[in-house]
Amino acid sequence: MIEAVFKNQFQGSPEWWVRAPGRVDLMGSHTDYNEGYVLTMPLNLDTWIAFSPRKDENIVLYSVNLDEKAEFSSSVPHSKEQKGWITYISGVAQVFRDEGYDFPGINGVIHSSVPLGGGLSSSASLECSAAEMFMKAGGFTVDRKQAALYCQRAENEYVGMPCGVLDQYTSIMGKAGTLILLDCRALSHILIRLPETIQVVICDTQAPHILVGSEYETRRNQCFQGVEILKKRFPVIQTLRDTEVKQLQTCKNSMNEEVFKRSLFIIGESQRVLEASAAISVGTEDEKSGKRLTELFNASFTGARDLYEITVPQMEMMHEAMTTAPGAIASRQAGGGFGGCMSSLVRAHQIEDFKAHVYRFYRESSGLEAKLYTVVPGEGAGTIEF
Ligand code: ADP
Ligand code: MG
Repeated sequence: MIEAVFKNQFQGSPEWWVRAPGRVDLMGSHTDYNEGYVLTMPLNLDTWIAFSPRKDENIVLYSVNLDEKAEFSSSVPHSKEQKGWITYISGVAQVFRDEGYDFPGINGVIHSSVPLGGGLSSSASLECSAAEMFMKAGGFTVDRKQAALYCQRAENEYVGMPCGVLDQYTSIMGKAGTLILLDCRALSHILIRLPETIQVVICDTQAPHILVGSEYETRRNQCFQGVEILKKRFPVIQTLRDTEVKQLQTCKNSMNEEVFKRSLFIIGESQRVLEASAAISVGTEDEKSGKRLTELFNASFTGARDLYEITVPQMEMMHEAMTTAPGAIASRQAGGGFGGCMSSLVRAHQIEDFKAHVYRFYRESSGLEAKLYTVVPGEGAGTIEF
């Protein structure tokens, strides 16, 4: 399909193909920019770019998802005037150029199976596939962790989204069949095999997910305010990762209620990541670890609702649909919240019953048609050889 589109847009056939996956967090909302832990999963939903070099310096790209062509020149510095989806790619190009790398003009076709704007990080999968594209076209490689940081910088500086590195790190470092337990301070991870008896189902609420706006930044600033107050009493604290509930309680009277609630959520959430990772490693054949996963996911969801306040009514309806479905082990939000996707761990042999229930239940309560994806951990960004 992409080949035919390429021919239609640019004539000829693409010379190279690259891809990079979207991702879902199984535990750890908003812990990344607090230097905590996240249990994250690269998806078998991904963004592909088929491309060929051009003789001039223009990067011309057609997005199948948006049915839109856009371009920029690789010899002109990135300008604030650049708007829209192409900035995710021109941003990556600019970061590479700032670092001294060079590449030719490109004709390319982009297609993504990651839903756009749903919290599964179509943006990082676009940036990371673009990074692969520039490396291939320019004939250079960079350290993989560094590539994730470059893509994050592109989104921070050129798209204007102050995101942590979680999405890009997962998209680049993923290994098929495994989850990533990421330490956002050390920028290191361990791989955790997802047992075959557990399947992950992503439940897209279809409620609009708008994060580039103020909410994300407000939460981030509230966490940093919490740290400033904690620091006065406990100077070793650099981020919320360094503190515990007992210390936070001693500062409760010096912070406003919102800052306290946000900090309390992050401290608990980062701890839940470690516990959930341990429980998934054991697997749900063990009754105790299955039960613990249910508790941890529920605590994450209620914290997101009551303390971090990043849920919307459709997410509550979806959570009820997920937790009451046959085969459900554990269910919670995904991504930054405010609508978008949620995720469940489901007993593999009950997947169809689970999905039928969630779809019906959610439609009755919200009037919306959920989109449900059964996903497996996919391979990280790279070139595709045929
Ligand atoms: P998420 O990363 O959760 O999907 P974001 O709002 O961070 O949501 O990123 C979505 C944006 O990324 C889209 O609105 C679009 O600008 C850009 N994008 C992602 N995938 C594509 C694609 N295949 N084609 C064009 N733009 C894309
Ligand atoms: Mg994104």
